[in-house]
Amino acid sequence: MKGVPATASGRYRRIKTGLASLLLGWFFLVPFLRWDRGPDLPGQAILFDLPGRRLFLFGWEFWPQDLPIAVGLLVGAASLLFYATALAGRVWCGFACPQTVWTDLFFAVDRFCEHRRIPPVLVKITIALLTGFGFACWFTDAPTLAGRLLGGSAAPGSYGAVLIIGGLTWLLGVYAKQRVCLHMCPWPRFQAALLDRDSQVVTYQAWRGESRGRKRIPLREDLGGEPGGTRGDCIDCTRCVAVCPTLIDIRDGLQMGCIGCGLCVDACDTVMEKIGRPKGLIRFDSETNANAKSWTKTLPRPLAAKPMLFLSVALLALGAALFAMLTLSPLRADLDPQRNPLFVRLSDGGIRNDFLLHIQAREPGLSTLRLRLAEGEAGLLRLASSGDHAGSETVEVTLDQRELRERLLITRPAGADAKGRSPLHLLVQDARDGRLLGTVETQFWGPES
Ligand code: SF4
Ligand code: SF4
Repeated sequence: MKGVPATASGRYRRIKTGLASLLLGWFFLVPFLRWDRGPDLPGQAILFDLPGRRLFLFGWEFWPQDLPIAVGLLVGAASLLFYATALAGRVWCGFACPQTVWTDLFFAVDRFCEHRRIPPVLVKITIALLTGFGFACWFTDAPTLAGRLLGGSAAPGSYGAVLIIGGLTWLLGVYAKQRVCLHMCPWPRFQAALLDRDSQVVTYQAWRGESRGRKRIPLREDLGGEPGGTRGDCIDCTRCVAVCPTLIDIRDGLQMGCIGCGLCVDACDTVMEKIGRPKGLIRFDSETNANAKSWTKTLPRPLAAKPMLFLSVALLALGAALFAMLTLSPLRADLDPQRNPLFVRLSDGGIRNDFLLHIQAREPGLSTLRLRLAEGEAGLLRLASSGDHAGSETVEVTLDQRELRERLLITRPAGADAKGRSPLHLLVQDARDGRLLGTVETQFWGPES
């Protein structure tokens, strides 16, 4: 079929199909996973809540302030990708990249529809729209969105998102296809720096295959092959070219266009089996070993210096991110001094500072909090909205929708050391059991003399 690679069957085809099924399943089904966080919070296990500027990831809730964790995860993931590339070439491109997965899916549709009188374009439009829907599900409650889209009651923005992502899927997977890998993606340019002569790449064992020709005669000894005649194992059937999604001929050597999908390995192994020659004329191997004309292929070297460097960075970054995730504070509290005026001297000689208190709870179930100053710091607290003008050593506050924004007045009594600028520590406790949830550090201002 024009523009559609031929089918290959074998180990790498099976790995590709299995992995693509897992990734597609993950993409479409994970947004439907539920996670009980209580009545006021979304019940979706993973949700990018853009209006609320937060990310729900199972039991975690991340805010923009947690950006360092995202940076740690991204650095870790990128280093793992570098590790995989240094070890085994473009495995990401060939097996897991969304461009590869969706293009492969559209090729499968073409092959499936060819003899079944089903217009492939209809199936492809359905897949593209489903992809748009699947993408939108990561950003809003998936079952609700599905119901509203089907019932025609979704917001116009939801239909727009499905159409835009669906259109993009069509453009990249149906129209651009391998052109994305060949001309648009920057990754092949980077990967050259990550590979060395010991990395696993798809290699054509030219010493075994050449000189190629339809009539196979045993190999020439001077080319390193078995004792025999003058022709190599390649029978020039071009199956390796026919199955290649980027339409390259790997027999010309490793090229930028090779995404390392291994389909030519499967195709050639099938041919070798048929003509009774050993498999592996095309195989994942190191360039060093291919040049050594060895019948035995090398295995990846996970402990070599270059891959180990990337693995160490990945483990460090992921370890740091995981530690930060496990020790996330249950709430965020800020105390912004209101500096106009800096302080007020009361008639009884006390010095009062005015703060804007902002608390956001991360832990579900937190509703009433107790505030007090740290041990050894004298002062009385009063919410500006409360009727208790004297203030007290502790105050209790109730969160509304897990959030509180209130003016807090803190007074250091006459006689307490309140000269100039001094540190102030406000402790935030769970009112139910006195558990310390956080400490806010700020400055208390008093007269210079
Ligand atoms: S599939 Fe194998 S035998 Fe056929 S052309 Fe390619 S390398 Fe040669
Ligand atoms: S040359 Fe082989 S491994 Fe490379 S993209 Fe083509 S089929 Fe895949």
